[in-house]
Amino acid sequence: MDEKIFKSPKEIWDNISLLTRNLFKATALVWDIARKWTILWACLLIVQGILPVATVYLTKAFINSLTITISGRGTDASKTVSLALLFIIIYLANSIAGFAQKLVKIKQTEIIQDTMTNRIHEKALEMDMAFFESPESFDKLYRAQNDAKNMPQTLLDNLGMLVQSCITLFAMAGILFSFGVLLPVLLFVGTIPALFIIGYYSRKMNSWRIMRTPDSRMAGYYDHMITHRNSAQEIRLYGLGDSFRKSYQNLRAVLRNEKIALTREQAVAEFAAQLFGMAVIGIAVIWILLRAAHGKANLGEVAMLYQAFNQGQGLMKNVLGNVGTIYKNSMFVDDLFVFFGIEPTVKNPAEPLEFDSSLKDGIVFDNATFRYPCGADHVIKKFSIKIPAGITTAIVGPNGAGKSTLTRLICRFYDPESGRVLLDGVDMKDLDLKRHRGRISVLFQEPVHFNATAFDNIAFGSMESGPGLDDIKRAAVSSGADVPISRLPNGYETVLGKWFGGSDLSLGEWQRVALARAFLRNSAILMLDEPTSSMDSWAENDWLKRFKALARGKTSLIITHRFTTAMQADIIHVMDKGSIVESGTHDELIKKGGMYARSWKEQTKEYEHSS
Ligand code: ATP
Repeated sequence: MDEKIFKSPKEIWDNISLLTRNLFKATALVWDIARKWTILWACLLIVQGILPVATVYLTKAFINSLTITISGRGTDASKTVSLALLFIIIYLANSIAGFAQKLVKIKQTEIIQDTMTNRIHEKALEMDMAFFESPESFDKLYRAQNDAKNMPQTLLDNLGMLVQSCITLFAMAGILFSFGVLLPVLLFVGTIPALFIIGYYSRKMNSWRIMRTPDSRMAGYYDHMITHRNSAQEIRLYGLGDSFRKSYQNLRAVLRNEKIALTREQAVAEFAAQLFGMAVIGIAVIWILLRAAHGKANLGEVAMLYQAFNQGQGLMKNVLGNVGTIYKNSMFVDDLFVFFGIEPTVKNPAEPLEFDSSLKDGIVFDNATFRYPCGADHVIKKFSIKIPAGITTAIVGPNGAGKSTLTRLICRFYDPESGRVLLDGVDMKDLDLKRHRGRISVLFQEPVHFNATAFDNIAFGSMESGPGLDDIKRAAVSSGADVPISRLPNGYETVLGKWFGGSDLSLGEWQRVALARAFLRNSAILMLDEPTSSMDSWAENDWLKRFKALARGKTSLIITHRFTTAMQADIIHVMDKGSIVESGTHDELIKKGGMYARSWKEQTKEYEHSS
């Protein structure tokens, strides 16, 4: 938070150009989203800018006319009444314009907010997995969602108010100018300290906000853990509630105190600037009164001058306030454009190669080296393997060996640092990303439990094909999900999960539903990451029988710790520390007496002991 009140000319210029750039971008964005409403809003703003000036002119005419009428020096009563009526009309017009502007603004705000959220969603969906790996990305997303989303419009509002105040201010300055340069100069001089203070604290507040984003997110995390279902059991069992609550409160206390301290500091500085402004008003008032005392101004002019100067001071304060808010909000808007400007690292090729949805030869890792975006070490180095088309391949190995990473690379959630992943001899990077993913079905290690009907939970696997109930049932039978679904109160129409419905499934049952989702897609490549991990041994046997029929002709990759599952595969690879250490059929690997055989013996010994 290293902020100086006085910046170097270059820094001032950089700030001004950033401000102007963001203003243009925000205006273009709002214009693009709600053109009609923005035009209407701008017209009403101009009307509201002009009307106060008319009031000041009328004040002079009205008071002079009233003085003549009261003194009996003329018969201006009807003129005075007309002026009074005009006053009322202008007042009413101003009020009507104010109300109309409020309505227009609500409409404009709603449209802009929804469109902005939609664009943030669009961008978040466009981002690849690498984006979700880094805390800095979350900071950017957090600021875009929380602080910046409404800013383009707020910025335009501030700009509108600024234009409106400026219109009135220039007109007032014009009135004052007709009585000499002193009053307009005083008007300007009185506000110089405030201008610096506003700029200084806007920058300081922004630096603070950026510096504290991780802490704000951390507070949000504790809030989430305390109030959400997924964490409810462990929070209670391990008695973490108080500790999380305290952590939340401590973080909030730091954030709150720092913000209050900054605001207090700003308020004191602004008060000092205001005292200076009041002293300037004092000088102006004395000057006006002296003019009147010397007979250089009549009563109407004195009233007009005072009103113009007083309103001018208020307007100047508004203008400065608006400039400060615009400056502050332009920094928020910057976050939004930074977020919109992030590019995914996994890109669709400019001219994708054509390919068949079936797979003829297979998937090949060719000397592939990969490390996760924020990972310390490489998960695979110069890794080569072939997963032949049309048969079932199993990969077994200890935790952290890199098995699931292979499935993520095949889905092209990440690209290898060097080397290639080929499908039927073509580098995946040359294939249309969406179409490529469209020919893969995956059961992930931790499948999503969609809070939707059982039907939809399965249908999400192939929305584009518009599956009917028969298709859904077929997929459910293949995965064994039909049995738990048949026990639900409304069968396939039962809403699962606790967000919107009352029914929930066991982990193994959810896994079957996710498996049905993967089967529904009926794609050429089927990848199952620990498909039987949550199944009991009876269910596993039953499922394996079905899987054999289902996988016929497909290129299947099963990742498993269970040898009873792996032994069903046509070929088994044993993976350890990012390398394939053994390969063969179950019988071949047992004969070899290596890592697989040793683990097999241990696992079957466990089964024998437990049975
Ligand atoms: P398991 O059998 O436990 O599922 P696995 O063989 O499937 O393990 P992977 O999930 O492929 O292992 O992980 C391989 C290595 O990569 C692990 O050491 C893990 O810590 C690391 N890793 C996995 N995901 C990430 C990530 N998103 N960022 C950084 N490192 C990761």
